[in-house]
Amino acid sequence: MTIKENILRLKAGLPEEVELVAVSKTCSAESILQAYQAGQRIFGESRPQEMRAKYGELPKDIRWHMIGHLQTNKVKYIAPFVNLIHSVDSAKLFEAIDIHAVKNARTIDVLLEVCIAEEETKHGWQEDHLIAWLDTGIYREATGVRIRGLMGIATNTDDREKTREEFSGLARLYLWLKEEYFGPDFDTLSMGMTSDYNIAVECGANMVRIGSMIFGERNYGKQ
Ligand SMILES: *Cc1c(COP(=O)(O)O)cnc(C)c1O
Repeated sequence: MTIKENILRLKAGLPEEVELVAVSKTCSAESILQAYQAGQRIFGESRPQEMRAKYGELPKDIRWHMIGHLQTNKVKYIAPFVNLIHSVDSAKLFEAIDIHAVKNARTIDVLLEVCIAEEETKHGWQEDHLIAWLDTGIYREATGVRIRGLMGIATNTDDREKTREEFSGLARLYLWLKEEYFGPDFDTLSMGMTSDYNIAVECGANMVRIGSMIFGERNYGKQ
């Protein structure tokens, strides 16, 4: 299967309302162009400098999504062009994005990453901390950031019921926050990767982030 065939097959199997983020971290510009030629326009990266370099050399209608953990001191590399940041996991990062968005005369769309997995190494807000922060109302004063929804990464497990529970929990939180705190602009639920995107879509995801199923196994060793 070529990259182009993988994209077309994946898209054919996804409901129309589900956006596909092609996760291209560690992939060459050439591989990304193959996906681009199959009509793919949204690409996900996890390292700011790598994303900026690819932004520089690839077509300008690509929408770049930051999906990996983001340090506040690296926001500046992507603030001029990033289309959506999935991984806002602290008030400090939210504030840094706001500052850089304003500097660039932009409004940057973000998702709040919620910790739904049992592994403590995974990033993301604990639900109670997130609600406490939302209750401060600080996010309403930010002029450079628009909160568009939630992102979550499930526990890495073969237990599909566990995965389903984690995704359904996030979907419930998403609907509740939309109702209580946000409204129509809060419209994105990013969950599901190669191994679990089918479950995520069944649980209500409208954005999935898929890498290895499109581009093959990643080779981190080369970097
Ligand atoms: C790498 C990555 C993905 C894609 O993972 P695959 O298993 O290759 O589909 C999705 N989301 C995040 C946050 C990632 O870091």
